[in-house]
Amino acid sequence: MKKAVIIISLLLCASVASARGIVKHLAVSAAETAVDMSVAHGVNKSIQEGEAAKAAKEAGWTCPQCGQSGNQGNFCINCGSPKPQPAETWECPACHQKGNKGNFCTNCGNPKIPQENVQKLTHE
Ligand SMILES: [Zn+2]
Ligand SMILES: [Zn+2]
Repeated sequence: MKKAVIIISLLLCASVASARGIVKHLAVSAAETAVDMSVAHGVNKSIQEGEAAKAAKEAGWTCPQCGQSGNQGNFCINCGSPKPQPAETWECPACHQKGNKGNFCTNCGNPKIPQENVQKLTHE
């Protein structure tokens, strides 16, 4: 929760700074209310998402060419090979063709639904 504390401190500073000239204790209590609202409405969520992304990033990927593990970028740090695309397959929602790997169904040409959109739909 260190990140949350830092963010709260930043919010407090920003609110107090913008309220300069107004009676100080009023500004502080307004800032506290703002912080409560931000925490309740999404700050926590974005911190969790950020940490999940960070964990995935720290795991890195293993180079299929030279076996170098823990690569972080789009190219292998040892041999410069490009990062391999995930080998996951998808089922076509239109014709139920399974094992599609590209962006379009190999059977009917239906475009793949991006994973991001699928997750958003599921969450909302
Ligand atoms: Zn490599
Ligand atoms: Zn299809």
